[in-house]
Amino acid sequence: MKAMILMILKSEFAKDFETANRQQLYYAISKAIMTEIADSWQTSLAKSAKGKQAYYFSAEFLMGRALGNNLLNLGDTPEITALLADYHIDLKDLENQEADAGLGNGGLGRLAACFLESAATMALPLHGYGIRYQYGLFKQTFNDGFQVEIPDDWLKYPEPWSIRRDDEALTIHFADGDIRAIPYDTPIIGYRNHQINTLRLWQSEAILPFDFDAFNEQAYDLAVAEKNRAEAICKVLYPNDSKDEGKKLRLKQQYFFVSASLQDLVRKFVATGDSWECFPERYAVQLNDTHPVVAVPELIRILMDDYHIRFNRAFKIAQKTFAYTNHTILQEALEKWHISFYKSLLPRVYEIIQKIDRQFMNEFKESDMPAAHIQQMRIIQDHMVHMAYLAIYGSHSVNGVAALHTDILKQIALKDWYELFPERFNNKTNGITQRRWLKFANPELSALITECLGNESWITHLSELKGLEKFADDEVILSRFMAIKQQRKQVLADYIRENEGVALDPKALFDIQIKRLHEYKRQLLNAFQILHQYYELLENPEKEIVPRVYIFGAKAAPGYYRAKGIIKYINEIAKRINDDPVVAGRIKVHFVENYNVSYGELLFPAADLSEQISTAGKEASGTGNMKFMLNGTPTIGTLDGANIEIVEEAGIENNFIFGAKVEELEALNGSYDPVEYYLTNPKLKRIVDTLIDGTFSDGGTGMFHELYSSLMQGASWHRADNYFLLYDFEDYVAAQAKVSESYEDPIGWARKCWLNLANAGKFSSDRTILQYAEDIWQIKSIEV
Ligand SMILES: *Cc1c(COP(=O)(O)O)cnc(C)c1O
Repeated sequence: MKAMILMILKSEFAKDFETANRQQLYYAISKAIMTEIADSWQTSLAKSAKGKQAYYFSAEFLMGRALGNNLLNLGDTPEITALLADYHIDLKDLENQEADAGLGNGGLGRLAACFLESAATMALPLHGYGIRYQYGLFKQTFNDGFQVEIPDDWLKYPEPWSIRRDDEALTIHFADGDIRAIPYDTPIIGYRNHQINTLRLWQSEAILPFDFDAFNEQAYDLAVAEKNRAEAICKVLYPNDSKDEGKKLRLKQQYFFVSASLQDLVRKFVATGDSWECFPERYAVQLNDTHPVVAVPELIRILMDDYHIRFNRAFKIAQKTFAYTNHTILQEALEKWHISFYKSLLPRVYEIIQKIDRQFMNEFKESDMPAAHIQQMRIIQDHMVHMAYLAIYGSHSVNGVAALHTDILKQIALKDWYELFPERFNNKTNGITQRRWLKFANPELSALITECLGNESWITHLSELKGLEKFADDEVILSRFMAIKQQRKQVLADYIRENEGVALDPKALFDIQIKRLHEYKRQLLNAFQILHQYYELLENPEKEIVPRVYIFGAKAAPGYYRAKGIIKYINEIAKRINDDPVVAGRIKVHFVENYNVSYGELLFPAADLSEQISTAGKEASGTGNMKFMLNGTPTIGTLDGANIEIVEEAGIENNFIFGAKVEELEALNGSYDPVEYYLTNPKLKRIVDTLIDGTFSDGGTGMFHELYSSLMQGASWHRADNYFLLYDFEDYVAAQAKVSESYEDPIGWARKCWLNLANAGKFSSDRTILQYAEDIWQIKSIEV
């Protein structure tokens, strides 16, 4: 290993151990690992190819860093440890050289990453297909409290974890010209089981690098126009989370990676010589949200046009191959494409969609479903292609991502579809991988768990955490547990002081809300509660309280004006409170810059309180909630998404549940008037008024006024206080008071934390992926 690393340093950089910099060492070690695993990787792929395999089609894979996790999953690498010791190199330091692979927005992309890791660990033959964006999700900084976006140039330094395979490139046809799709393969390493699966990301390139005739005529721009057009497709990830933008380039991205992936599968299948009916017996394809749903007509197109299969037969093959995961019921996220985009860019695919739409009509015009309902379910309606409808009709499985979410799909959002195809609907509650989110991110707590349980088996069987329950009254264990929490808080505080220049007291309660900035996630409600606490202290300066540090982390989509206003508002509140000597040592507020996977690895283990306060019915599942729980952190939250299952497992008495339930909000049926709450609650009014009375400055942008209007007046496209902040405010304040009260009893608090940890077993993505494998894909673990 040492010789190999030295060889790589020499061949790639003409350096040795003494002269190489950290980045070069990181690269050389990573490449050496790639060499080490090459044989296992090939063997794994060959074994997998003998049976049925599953493919996760996703426009996003939020992988984070690879080195630390790959070392963890591979197990002992004494040669690397010795080498680092010899040269006094800190491994963490090297790990930090790696750029996050931030090829996703938030939960949906991170879920895809957890699934791949869990599948490899469970020895399931599951591979990922996606896009190799040149720029991932933007990097965030703050300038005077405003979010500023910077391109995420994650490929600036050589990237060691992928292998470019020119020999497997494919051609993708668009009406405006053909382009090449080049695969880059990244190994997905299972936990100490020699199973290695593949994440294959496609990069778009021009067929010809430049046009020689134009070049000779000195028309340089024209000469490279094709190259630019092709490369534009993979240039950058769209930074929208749960909002559909309907941009033509986005449709190109979707079709590009879906067509390449399906051609890849068809090419492999043709080599087997089997009859086409066997296709769904060899391959299962999971569509991660509607982004890859063009796969349904595309597979049919390939079968019809390249292999002369009739439409009906091709449709049945597609339906047996595909399964669809729904991730949201937010109206603004339901993907629809104007037919003009499809007609101009993908005319043949559009013809197939028309055939599917017509077949749907013909199939159900004789059914019990009233004709008007069927009309409302048409795949093509009002000149738009409805991707979710195409997905449901074109696949054999439709799943939600938490029990409540699946119920809402069945009873409300997709009620008509559920009536038509009840057997297709199923739930798969999300999960997270405990290797990254506990073993790697919190090694001290992991060691304590292993000590208590007597073995490490929980690392691949998370439900064994249940065995920790018997220590819930063991004060020695609890105090060691809390000392570890203290240590993780210190590490986070040190990091924030060094990198962001803000000192946080690790003895205070760390109250953390980290997730994309969205109105429905209600960071603004959190801000209001903080102001409430602040004003209470100003009125009673001597009041003793549980000191708190409120930490936020969130990126706002660059075009989401209100979300950006909320960031600025929280930063203004932070400035005011952190500078006020009256509350010094009691409350502090900090918004971390550029929350991403690596930052999450510092934040989740350091939390005392997990903020999961979305409007009931809006957060399909959440996975951040699970990462906190797995690190022994109670939730303050609403009965929404997977929060419901979290308190079911850990006990409502060990968490802080508040706020309106879905049924309560449904029953209001539009009769809610936030102004009434505002006028009858002077404390609340004073807080909301800070948006307009000059207490805080939005730099003359009008952002705060706009936030105020969204709460008080609404607009044509949304109701006043659409997310019920004012409705839930008092209950949230009361729940926060209960948190403080509970925190004052250290043993009682530690017990709550411990019982959350002990009952986190359900939320392993190992469990989730095994359910997909068994119920939807019918794939089996490989003998390893
Ligand atoms: C887990 C995770 C998310 C999802 O968080 P939610 O609270 O479930 O929305 C988003 N971003 C990153 C970086 C994550 O690790």
